[in-house]
Amino acid sequence: MSPEEFRRVGKQVVDWIADYYAGIEQHPVRSRAEPGEIRAGLPAHPPERGESFDDVLADLDEVLLPGVTHWQHPNFFAYFPANASGPAVLGDLLSGGLGVQGMMWATSPACTELETVVVDWLAELLGLPEHFRTDSTGGGVIQDSASSATLVACLAALQRSGQDVARRGITRRHALYVSAHTHSSVERAARIAGVGADNVRVVDSDPDTLGMDPRHLEELIAADLADGAVPTMVCATVGTTSTTAIDPVRAIGEVAARHGVWLHVDAAYAGVAAVCPELRWINDGVAEFADSYCTNPHKWLLTNFDCSLLWLANRAPMVDALSILPEYLRNEATESGEVIDYRDWQIPLGRRFRSLKLWSVLRCYGAEGLREHIRGTIALAREFAGWVREDPGFELLEPHPFALVCFRPRYSELPAAEADERTRRLLDELNDSGELYLTHTKLDGRVLLRLAIGSPQTERHHVRAAWDRIRRAA
Ligand SMILES: *Cc1c(COP(=O)(O)O)cnc(C)c1O
Repeated sequence: MSPEEFRRVGKQVVDWIADYYAGIEQHPVRSRAEPGEIRAGLPAHPPERGESFDDVLADLDEVLLPGVTHWQHPNFFAYFPANASGPAVLGDLLSGGLGVQGMMWATSPACTELETVVVDWLAELLGLPEHFRTDSTGGGVIQDSASSATLVACLAALQRSGQDVARRGITRRHALYVSAHTHSSVERAARIAGVGADNVRVVDSDPDTLGMDPRHLEELIAADLADGAVPTMVCATVGTTSTTAIDPVRAIGEVAARHGVWLHVDAAYAGVAAVCPELRWINDGVAEFADSYCTNPHKWLLTNFDCSLLWLANRAPMVDALSILPEYLRNEATESGEVIDYRDWQIPLGRRFRSLKLWSVLRCYGAEGLREHIRGTIALAREFAGWVREDPGFELLEPHPFALVCFRPRYSELPAAEADERTRRLLDELNDSGELYLTHTKLDGRVLLRLAIGSPQTERHHVRAAWDRIRRAA
């Protein structure tokens, strides 16, 4: 494709995206495609001769779009948001255009140095501690996902446990600590790192707050120590995936610090809320106790997937765990020790120029614009929760500190199992309608509906319409 052809089609593609956003409400929120339907609409074999990009765009409209679930639709309330924004999409396009592989400083200095600047900027915007900054002992890095961040934290924790796991492998039983509400990525990390899922210990949660019980954590650590195991990492969550519950990070941190256990704080969804000073309380204890901290701008901070930030209080154990320098990567800058090679801060070697999209977002929205987005979506969620609370036919899960509301129809005339069945049918009916998209979770064995607000396109009238639709169908 010549630069001239690229210019022509590229403009069409940008127009396509702009039209898509402008007309997004014409689409059913959740795709109605049946399994295999999209694949059946595509040729079984690759083309022998090159086709034009216009043909690609035509198939996007005709074949693929029916199989797309519209995550940027203002009535998308499922899971957590994965919101995109103009600046992020354009930043990502530029990253694709540059086609840089930024595995080391030497392979494109700007890719590394811009990343350093934006992770430090974000640490400042979220009020994270000074030692998370790159010019201190720690530093931040952009990962593809919170799951990768958890794995990197786990490898660093294993390395710091004094067993030099990177070289000797796992020679003793290591234990990780989670609660029943912790994200499954910790168990994944345990499996991948060779710790083993059986060594992930589940700490009790407080039945009211759903937060991890620090006293039980202490007991489990003591039992593991008595058993000759190495208590290695505890994961505290700020904003659990299921209900956005918050673990008592400070109290957990005190226990972890006493036993030299690594504290990873998983704030994948909720951490970005700390751009608002009035929400900084969510990070209580992080400055004093967190060894690593993760939050995803790709969920709620207007930066399209993938963009997950991991900070460390001390980067040394991570680099010790992951750094390898084969001959073909040797270079002067690395040997000088004056540069960062982010390949040592992640699992893969290669890395994209992800900081471009986050940089675009931070510059175009400014701190003010980001706060407005967080506050606006939280305000809509509070209003929705207010409607639920006032309706005697519904139950509301409190508190709801962020932009996720969990609730269910009471169906008080029905036994619990039948009420749950009705709630599930209600959910299917709503999602099949294409008018909105919600998901569910289970708490204490009972089904709850989850409504997460996060799109910058979502306005009050969308939320009101969603509530009216839910009430009518219930
Ligand atoms: C979404 C989520 C994750 C996983 O995030 P990915 O970036 O998709 O890996 C981890 N932890 C929590 C608390 C989450 O909400």
